[in-house]
Amino acid sequence: YCLALLAELNLGNNALKEVPTVLGHLESLRKLYLFSNRITVVPPDVIGGLQNLVVLNLNHNQIQRLPPEIKRYIYGIVVSKILQHLSMMDNKLEEVPAELGHLTKLSEINLTSNKLSWLPQQLYQCKDLTKVHVARNKLTSLPELTFKHTLQNLTTFHVTQGIRALTKLQVVDVAGNKLSMFPVEFHLLSLKELYCEGNRFVHCEPMPSEQDAEVFSLKVIVMEVQQTQQDLLNHLLCKLSIIVYLSSGSCCALCLGPFLTTWLECVHFISLRKDMKMKSSLTIPVRALLCSYKCFNTDGHPYYGVATR
Ligand SMILES: [Zn+2]
Repeated sequence: YCLALLAELNLGNNALKEVPTVLGHLESLRKLYLFSNRITVVPPDVIGGLQNLVVLNLNHNQIQRLPPEIKRYIYGIVVSKILQHLSMMDNKLEEVPAELGHLTKLSEINLTSNKLSWLPQQLYQCKDLTKVHVARNKLTSLPELTFKHTLQNLTTFHVTQGIRALTKLQVVDVAGNKLSMFPVEFHLLSLKELYCEGNRFVHCEPMPSEQDAEVFSLKVIVMEVQQTQQDLLNHLLCKLSIIVYLSSGSCCALCLGPFLTTWLECVHFISLRKDMKMKSSLTIPVRALLCSYKCFNTDGHPYYGVATR
């Protein structure tokens, strides 16, 4: 209790297996470092009192997953609404709870070297984010959009923007994942740095399309993916979110018209230097949705259909 005014505490490089319960009394704490310990769980009753926390560093521990009863907390932490830096690099996380979206002051998040195969769409509610580090995980896609039911009026879908909502985003590190492309409108971000080596991006390799009833000259590229079941599930979830997206008044990348009964998943290739004004010679694939083959078959557009082989 003598430490009630303590603002910064570094307990890094110890052998702690648990978060010390005494921390719960340090109400003035703004920065807490617990990196390089052996912590497996962060109990909610301990860090719950830290309403003034701005920086939380749990790098290099063994935090694996959330016990179901504390789902409403973030990693067991009733996190202060003013948390700005959350770092959990090199743990064993398999998922990030949707409640992450409550951290509206979050400016930097580092989840590098975990076991994440997906991220919640609510990530895009953290509109102060400037840096997102999720390198060396198992991500197959980035979330496409955020949407939620309005409880008072179940007939209304409240749809917020996808990644484009993160207008302050400057640094994205997704290197060493399994991404096949970037989400819709990714190229409209004003990024300064993008790290994306070591993924499974689609590459441009024109091939003849199989033509059934409809006759058209497809521009098709090949996606070489040996998909595991988990990958397929993630792919399906991604498709599902696109369907919700489409049913909610978004529009065709080409004619800007609404989607009626059908849609085409396409991709376009974005030059970081030319299109995003970045200092990089990379070209990245970004998802785009077209409303119809009519649009797709018009000449001179940059969108390619995607084939899986
Ligand atoms: Zn169209």
